[in-house]
Amino acid sequence: MGLRLYNSLTRTKEDLAPLGAPKVGLYTCGPTVYNYQHVGNYRTYVFEDVLVRALKLLGYAPNRVMNITDVGHLTSQGDEGEDKMEVGSAREGKSAWDVAQCYTEAFLADCRELNILPADILCRATDHIAEQIALVQRLEAKGFVYKTSDGLYFDTARLPDYGKLMTREHLEGLQSGARVEANAEKRRITDFALWKFSPAGSRRQMEWDSPWGKGFPGWHIECSAMAMRFLGETFDIHCGGIDHVPVHHTNEIAQSEGATGKPFAKFWLHGEFLLMHNAKMAKSSGGFVKLSDLKDKGFSPLDYRYHCFTAHYRKQLDFTWETLEGSKTSRRRLKEAALALAGEPAKLGCAEYSTRFKEALSDDLNVPAAMAVVWDAVKSDLPGGAKKSFLEEAETVLALDLFKKDAEETTPPEVARLLAARDDARRRKDFPEADRIRQAIDQLGYVVKDGMAGAKAVKK
Ligand code: AMP
Ligand code: ZN
Repeated sequence: MGLRLYNSLTRTKEDLAPLGAPKVGLYTCGPTVYNYQHVGNYRTYVFEDVLVRALKLLGYAPNRVMNITDVGHLTSQGDEGEDKMEVGSAREGKSAWDVAQCYTEAFLADCRELNILPADILCRATDHIAEQIALVQRLEAKGFVYKTSDGLYFDTARLPDYGKLMTREHLEGLQSGARVEANAEKRRITDFALWKFSPAGSRRQMEWDSPWGKGFPGWHIECSAMAMRFLGETFDIHCGGIDHVPVHHTNEIAQSEGATGKPFAKFWLHGEFLLMHNAKMAKSSGGFVKLSDLKDKGFSPLDYRYHCFTAHYRKQLDFTWETLEGSKTSRRRLKEAALALAGEPAKLGCAEYSTRFKEALSDDLNVPAAMAVVWDAVKSDLPGGAKKSFLEEAETVLALDLFKKDAEETTPPEVARLLAARDDARRRKDFPEADRIRQAIDQLGYVVKDGMAGAKAVKK
C-alpha cells in the first residue's frame, strides 16, 4: 500500500516515492541536550516513531537518523545570546560535556519508556565538526559566505529560492522579531551564522580550530552536514516540530541546496505543538511537564503515547491532566480487551480491519482514524483469534504494550538508568563496559533482552 504524506514544501499531500525503494532515508531533528525534554518535545518524537513504524508495516525499510544537538544552539532564535549548553553548565556547575552526556542519557531513557524505536543512526553535533567545517568551506567557495566581527554568515540574498519552505506570515514574524535582535553587521535579517568565533579574551568550553579561527558551528549546519553524511545529498523525508519551519529548516535547505545545487529532502513533515494553557509548551516559559512528572502522578509513559494518538499530528493538542486521565482509561480498557484474548489461538485472516487500519495510516498518518478502526475491531463480533491477530498487527505501530501485564511494564529506575548507560556504551562500541553493565542489571534480578524496540530488562 502506498503512503500519502502532507509535504510542507509543496503544501499538498503527495505520494511517497522513495529514491531507493523500499528504503526510505529519514532525518529527524533531535533534542538540544542542556535540559530535560518536555512532553511537548516527545509529541514530535512519538509522531516520528509512528511514521517509522507505519513505513515498516506498509512494506518500506526506513533508515532513521537523529541528531543530538550538543553545541551551537543559542538562546535566541537568531544568532545572538549564549550557547544553551553553556547555560546548562553554569546552572548545574558541571562541564558542558557532562551536561550533554547526562541529558542525552535521560532523553534515551524516556524514549525507551515511550516505546520509541531507537534511531538507526544517532549522531552528535560535536562528533561531526570536521564535516560541518567542510560544508562551510564548500559554501565559501561558491560565494555564499560573508564574514563579520563575530562569525561567518550565510548570505541569503545569493540564493534565489531562499525561504521556499516558509509562508509570508513566517517572514513577517521574523521581521518583527528582528527589531529586537542586536546584530547590525548582518546584511539581512534572514542571514544566519555558519560559524561563530570564540569571543576574544574568553575561552569557551566547546570550541574548535577552523580555517577562520577558533570557534563553534552555527546551529543549523550540523543537521545539513550529518543528514548528507548519513543519507546522501538528496534523501526522502525530513521531520521536526512546526517551530522549525521558518528558521532551522529553512536554513538547512539554504545551506544544503546552496552547497550541492540539488534538492535536499523531498518531503518535509512537521508535527504540530502540544499546548499547555493555550500556549506552546516550552522550556523557556518554565511551565513544562517532564515524563517523570507524569510518572509521579501515576501515569504510564504509554498513557501519554496513547494521548498523542487522540489528535492528528498536524493538529494542535491540548495537554491537561483531565484529558490525560481519559487517555489512561482508554488505554486500560484496550489493554483489558487485548489481555482477555491472550489465550486465543493465533488466527490469521482479518483483512477488513487490517486494510482499514493501513488505509488510515497511509492517508497522511491518520492515527485517530486508525485508533477508531482498532476500537471497531475490539467491539465487533469477530472471532477472538482474528481479533488477537489484528491487534498484534496494530501493536507494531501503536506500541502501547497492550499484551503486557502491568507488572511487566514497570522497570525500576535503577535498572532503567543502567539500561540507558549500557545503550550508550554500545553506541560508543565500548562492549566490555556494556557487558559489565549487563552483569550489574543481572545482579538486580533482571535479564537484558535486545529486541526490535531496543533493549529491555525483563524480571528473572
Ligand atoms: P529542542 O530540544 O528545543 O530542539 O526541540 C526538540 C523537538 O521538539 C523539535 O523537533 C521541536 O520542534 C519539538 N517541540 C518543541 N516544543 C514542542 C511542543 N510544545 N510540541 C511539540 N513539539 C515540540
Ligand atoms: Zn535539525
